[in-house]
Amino acid sequence: MSLAVKTGSLQSNLYGQFVNPQWVKLLDVLQMNLDYRVCRDAELRTADGRTIIDFNSGYCVHNIGHNHPQVVTALTQEIDAAGPAMLQNHASESAGMLAARLCGLAGGGLTKTFFASSGSEGVEAAIKFARAHTKRAGILHAAGGFHGLTCGALSLMSDAFWTDGFGPLLPDTAAVPFGDIAALERLLATRSFAAFIVEPVQAEAGVVVPSAEYLPAAQALCRRHGTLFVLDEVQTGLFRTGRFLAAHHFAVEPDIVVLAKALSGGLIPCSAVLMTERVYASVFSSLRRAIIHSSTFGENGLAMRAGLATLDVLEDERLGERAIRAGQRLQRGLAKRLAGYEMVRDIRGLGLLNAVEFGAPRSLRLRVPYETLAALHPAAFGQILVMRLLRDHGFLSQVCGNNFTVLKVAPPLTVTDAQLDGFVAALGEVVEGMHKSAEFWSHALGIARRALTGI
Ligand code: PMP
Repeated sequence: MSLAVKTGSLQSNLYGQFVNPQWVKLLDVLQMNLDYRVCRDAELRTADGRTIIDFNSGYCVHNIGHNHPQVVTALTQEIDAAGPAMLQNHASESAGMLAARLCGLAGGGLTKTFFASSGSEGVEAAIKFARAHTKRAGILHAAGGFHGLTCGALSLMSDAFWTDGFGPLLPDTAAVPFGDIAALERLLATRSFAAFIVEPVQAEAGVVVPSAEYLPAAQALCRRHGTLFVLDEVQTGLFRTGRFLAAHHFAVEPDIVVLAKALSGGLIPCSAVLMTERVYASVFSSLRRAIIHSSTFGENGLAMRAGLATLDVLEDERLGERAIRAGQRLQRGLAKRLAGYEMVRDIRGLGLLNAVEFGAPRSLRLRVPYETLAALHPAAFGQILVMRLLRDHGFLSQVCGNNFTVLKVAPPLTVTDAQLDGFVAALGEVVEGMHKSAEFWSHALGIARRALTGI
């Protein structure tokens, strides 16, 4: 059967026709529908000759930059070798090697690995493993967290925007405010929860960095009440915050850690669930159950090779140390450049997972357009900010998925000082515009109205 393809010159015509027309429309309205052609490191070249600098990293996928030559070479060699990439019926050597490296880097009691292809799949595995290990059904999570959009992971997301219309989701889940130890203790004391699943630094909630005490206290409470302490390090892992795991900043030793995104090298989907021997043994408990949980593409040769080459790059280029230094430079620069602007509420982060939080202005002159924009759509202000950074300054960024007034700043860990300083200057100009120029607001309101009427 042949499909009638509407003719059109842009590749987004086919995408709009056969994949997701709403997404194309949104990108068009926001003037963000660029035709990216060549992506290297933090630089994205477009068909019309622009160079965009990536400060989103595909939501923390591109820790080593786009198309790193070492990973590209490793993958090419893997293909050329014509090895058992997807055999299923063997014990994969590269999976063993990658698991050993990951467990070694993670440390603590994490000695076994389950491989899958996405973060959500990793979270699904963590839910099953925790239930099997504790023989309890409940899963506790921190409010505002992002854990994925498959049904199990989605059940651990408290923001109704993501869950509405998709229920019923998993029963026996509950949310506790992030950072609230007393609330956590009250719920853990019911002894009905298999796991407490939490991001060590909540990324999409607004890059929320906990106090130094929170995670160790949460871990101690979990241990006391027989609940597994599970860290979702899908965004924070692989040196994004400066350490291999964000857990290492807080000296905690989780029972399960979920990794994904950057483990792919930005090229081949790959996720890994690291766990203790005890958790592993309660799932894969006999020969009969040797493949009781598995995923077809989980240990595929290309993903394993991408993971190994990515770890090589992260270690050889000392990108953890780079993330710390670059993060400090970025935070210092932002604090200096954005000081005194009334809509800038906070600048925060860890390593190269950073954020600038905006809030309603106090002065009447700014309050009226700000509130009109916010009333049109809660995400409008943030999207205009993102759009201005891209259109006027060539920086690709995003607001947090569960907190639309927080701009996430997460470039590849390979970002240069000049790119960091360029971003600070660009954001400075956009922020200056929103505080000083009527044009910023008339333009923003025009775009928001167009978006809402679907034009
Ligand atoms: N956990 C966290 C912390 C995430 O940020 C995400 C994705 N943004 C996921 C899980 C889900 O990952 P994936 O999209 O690969 O399924």
